[in-house]
Amino acid sequence: MGGIIKTADWQEMTTALEASPLGPLLNNIVRSHRPLQKAGSVPANIPFLAEVPFDKFGIAVATTSGQVYRSGDADVPFSIQSISKVFTLAMALQGDPAGRLWSRVLREPSGTAFNSLVQLEVEHGVPRNPFINAGALVVTDHLMEGTPDAAKQLLRFLTAEAGSSGPFINEEAASSELLGSNRNLALAHFLKDFGNLKQTAQSVVQNYVRQCSIMMTCVELAQAGLFLAREGRGRLGRILSPSDAKRIGSIMLTCGMYDAAGEFAYRVGLPGKSGVGGGILVIVPGVCSICVWSPRLDAKGNSLAGTAALADLSDRTGWSVF
Ligand code: GLU
Repeated sequence: MGGIIKTADWQEMTTALEASPLGPLLNNIVRSHRPLQKAGSVPANIPFLAEVPFDKFGIAVATTSGQVYRSGDADVPFSIQSISKVFTLAMALQGDPAGRLWSRVLREPSGTAFNSLVQLEVEHGVPRNPFINAGALVVTDHLMEGTPDAAKQLLRFLTAEAGSSGPFINEEAASSELLGSNRNLALAHFLKDFGNLKQTAQSVVQNYVRQCSIMMTCVELAQAGLFLAREGRGRLGRILSPSDAKRIGSIMLTCGMYDAAGEFAYRVGLPGKSGVGGGILVIVPGVCSICVWSPRLDAKGNSLAGTAALADLSDRTGWSVF
């Protein structure tokens, strides 16, 4: 489908979805994309992630009409890592009607690795966007001004939106990641030096790492992200204005996949956010929210099999914002 998507088109897509055999399609996606051998890599600085079996693969679709479809390891908890950044941004915008956050972090793709130090130095401590680590540290600092334990606040948000008491902070994984967080600490010290961090570098990184260490399943994440497909309406009421929900989707599209946002937009055509735990959350506005998980990553830090599966799913369903 091409051109501007009108509400009626989305309604047709939603109706078509209800009539379509999505369950068998997801089973087929799992059969085709579950890795048969150990390709790609896992992050060296997070020991916990190295222990996850390479052939885990799950996918879940939560629709705006209230259906949930799942296949493979869709009910196995995994480490959400940077997918947390979508939700912390939503929480930050919720409490910031004047948009104070946007004087501290930009909305441009970075074109560099998610944990790059160089750009932050050159650009005087203002991170390119909230989905690279430096940007997420600023968002965390902003949240900590109101609630010192922003990670707990995030957990409450995710639990409510997922409609499940399953999500939890894996404190042991967080402590072990913290030991290897030299780069994130360096980013935080840079931010502090440029006057763009109010709390101590150590406390912000510690809180950020705990956010990343939240464990959730594909089903829970797809449900938690559904408000972005519903113009900001969550399970229990409005979370964001339609404009802010649109803006988060736009930042996901341009900045959500690290330094591979262009390639992901080309292959999948949907706003997405990945995490180095191997999860990817994708939004089909007006239709559904999708979460796929497969732990092995490509050179840019995105799930190898997860990205391939989403490209396949988007081709086979026609789901795209283009
Ligand atoms: N906790 C990870 C880090 O800060 C998250 C990275 C990611 O998922 O992009 O390095």
